[in-house]
Amino acid sequence: MSGTTRARVAPGALERRRAEIAAEIAAMGLPLPGSLVERRTRCGNTRCRCHDDPPRLHGPYLTWTRKVENKTVTRTLSPEQAERLRPLLDNARRLRELVSELEALALAHAEPN
Ligand SMILES: [Zn+2]
Repeated sequence: MSGTTRARVAPGALERRRAEIAAEIAAMGLPLPGSLVERRTRCGNTRCRCHDDPPRLHGPYLTWTRKVENKTVTRTLSPEQAERLRPLLDNARRLRELVSELEALALAHAEPN
């Protein structure tokens, strides 16, 4: 047993995992930024049920929310649009996970001990 505190990653294992990640990214569809959020809203008509006590809010509506130049942009989607975009949003989440893992591999490569 050596005195190192961290397990050394074998270069072969590191390269294998890097190649697996690269293959998964290559096979992936488009990554759409943002997330799907379900919202219930209140309208401007004060006599509407959404202003009752307790309120009966409108919706739920599916919205696609993302950041554009530090501002949150929200678009309401039909159920069909939401189902079409959901896999693309999942791709973006998976891509971020894979990039984080690639960075962890690079760190293991840069600091092998
Ligand atoms: Zn209302």
